Amino acid sequence: MIRITSKLPQTGTNIFTTMSALATEVGAINLSQGFPDYTCSPELVSLVNKAMKDGHNQYAPMAGVMGLREQISIKLEKLYGAQYHPDTEITITAGGTQGVFTAISAAIQPNDEVIVFEPAYDCYAPAIKLMGGIVKSLELAPPDYRIPWDMVRRLITNKTRMIILNSPHNPTATVLQQSDIDELTAIVKDQDILILSDEVYEHIIFDGQTHHSMARYEELRKRSFIVASFGKLFHTTGWKLGYCVAPALLMQEFRKLHQFLVFSVNTPMQYAVAEYLKDENVYLGLADFFQQKRDYFRSALAQTRFELLPCSGAYFQSVRYSNISDEKDTEIAPRITREFGVASIPTSAFYSRGTDHQVLRFCFAKQQETLDKAVNKLMKI
Ligand code: PMP
Ligand code: GLN
Repeated sequence: MIRITSKLPQTGTNIFTTMSALATEVGAINLSQGFPDYTCSPELVSLVNKAMKDGHNQYAPMAGVMGLREQISIKLEKLYGAQYHPDTEITITAGGTQGVFTAISAAIQPNDEVIVFEPAYDCYAPAIKLMGGIVKSLELAPPDYRIPWDMVRRLITNKTRMIILNSPHNPTATVLQQSDIDELTAIVKDQDILILSDEVYEHIIFDGQTHHSMARYEELRKRSFIVASFGKLFHTTGWKLGYCVAPALLMQEFRKLHQFLVFSVNTPMQYAVAEYLKDENVYLGLADFFQQKRDYFRSALAQTRFELLPCSGAYFQSVRYSNISDEKDTEIAPRITREFGVASIPTSAFYSRGTDHQVLRFCFAKQQETLDKAVNKLMKI
């Protein structure tokens, strides 16, 4: 008799896979899983092509192609005034997901406590549990999903090992404010607490707000793993390319795991991205690009019966539907997909207890035509 004892007995197929599969099955417009439905830059594709033709087709160095690490170092210095050494403090990963998993695995020992704010992106808690860590979740609520720092203080014990942050935030589209940074700094100062900062949406931030990267603040920087993703930066989620930066002491441990998880990451794409990153307009233009989409989508959605929640960053718009129905979000999301032809994500999927605030998340990283079609359908509800 062959047996396998599950390491994640409560875990099923994730909500993105489930809702995208349903959208495909019923031919609905897919505003559920977060990915663009338009092409990435042809220039970037040519650069990958060139790298392949130039013969960059064998293993990259374990930590990543040096030219790319150097560009990342320059970018971090320019944007956040932070110095990260390409040799020892920057590692190229197979997307943000691998960066998150590796950082958590490198840092968390059995019984370590990790503070996670919910709703939370789905890959944090499983990694913590696999390492024997304990998830201390703190639930945030709509409409503003602000972090109650007095409650964070109460959650801290001598076992607290890490706090996970994500700004701009998936799914709520909130961004950390200076006051959050001040509170966080006061909490971790003089404590042996690490931070995992998921900053994959760092350049998708609206209304002229500042991205408060952990890299900007020495007290936070020195204890942070910061995770980024080129999937978000270049509209190439399928390339699964990202990076993690951390002070050398932390990065040394990160790399011990990284070398056995993937060893190294796709070589030609690293060469291409190293070249492409030299033009800062590519990522500095992202905020305007997505703000136009946000504004367009919000004004169109305003004609429906959904109630719009604020959207300050990332490419997700959340809505409340209490005017429409008192169904659970896990019921109404598939029903709208089947009956009205638009797929969304039920936000309760991002709460470990399945807390349902009757909120759905739509991804607006889509062509205008797709958004138009989707809103036309949503108006019928
Ligand atoms: N963190 C957040 C908040 C995300 O939304 C995503 C993916 N959309 C990731 C991490 C993972 O990034 P990647 O696709 O590069 O693995
Ligand atoms: N991050 C994307 C989202 O939030 C999807 C990632 C995934 O499918 N795992 O929709």
